[in-house]
Amino acid sequence: MSVEALYQQMKAKLSNVVPDFELRYKAELAYEINRLKKERNAVILGHNYMEPALFYSIPDFTGDSLELSRKAARTDKDIIVFCGVRFMAETAKILNPQKTVLLPAEKAGCSLAASITAADVRKLKERFPGVPVVTYVNTYADVKAESDVCCTSSNAAAVVDSLGVDTVIFIPDEYLARNVARDTGKHIIFPTIISKPGDASDIKTDFQLIGWHGRCEVHEKFTVEDIANVREQFPDVVILTHPECSPEVVAASDFSGGTAAMIRYVEQISAPHYLLLTECAMGDNVAAANPDKEMLRLCSVRCPHMNQITLEDTLNALKYNRYVIEVPEEILVKAARSVERMIAIG
Ligand code: SF4
Repeated sequence: MSVEALYQQMKAKLSNVVPDFELRYKAELAYEINRLKKERNAVILGHNYMEPALFYSIPDFTGDSLELSRKAARTDKDIIVFCGVRFMAETAKILNPQKTVLLPAEKAGCSLAASITAADVRKLKERFPGVPVVTYVNTYADVKAESDVCCTSSNAAAVVDSLGVDTVIFIPDEYLARNVARDTGKHIIFPTIISKPGDASDIKTDFQLIGWHGRCEVHEKFTVEDIANVREQFPDVVILTHPECSPEVVAASDFSGGTAAMIRYVEQISAPHYLLLTECAMGDNVAAANPDKEMLRLCSVRCPHMNQITLEDTLNALKYNRYVIEVPEEILVKAARSVERMIAIG
């Protein structure tokens, strides 16, 4: 495809979202990336939170963490370029240890992933011996390696239910844990707020979900007042929330699900207005894919980590082979077990 054809394709999707001069410049970058991608036998995976011009020009596959993990597991390309954040690129490496995995921006981290360490998980396991550990995929490889099974926001309740046990350690997202506790009917405790470690044996019999205090710095910002204000102005709006939002915000919304579930919901439900309480770029990408639907914007929250990934950086990743993701063998083998177990659950 020529630069002009790519520009026209991007314009058809994004003329209401991205200024024309920016589209022209980005189409040239995207053209060069696509050329190098072929030359280097690479595949590009693009998370739903990528900025619109990138999202609609270079990825071979787009989706949420789980969808992209599945694509990563099946690729026959030599190089995987992950347009997402570090824990996602690590997951791709865990599933493809023989392949080169590149993350275009070295500092694309995540507040949730940074909220817990492998040593924290080991301490939790000592404190609650024999209790299985369910870990959200938004964690680093060494934390996954200490876990029994991973989950995403879309399959978290199914993963917890699949264990068939009374008590589960569920880390690290406090709000997702609270939302899963509600969905599965389990009681929850946060041992980080219990002062005496000796209390653990008593509370274990009363509480079935043991949480942590991590939060997504994007989704924790949405409030019930935000929802009330929008409903006042647009009484017929359908509001969708991500399960990383607080349980109060989720309860005040009409639908809650992971990014893929939100996209499906918007496509399937006919409503006068929609509001997605999630990361800004995702709202833009869903609006671009559904031009006939009226999307309201309450968007002041762009993930600073996802925002690190640009077309310029992606071009440099392919040009200079950077930044190569490495996971030590011992961690990789153990983390692979919990990730593959999650993928098998679906
Ligand atoms: S949106 Fe939240 S969970 Fe996702 S990468 Fe950013 S900080 Fe992490």
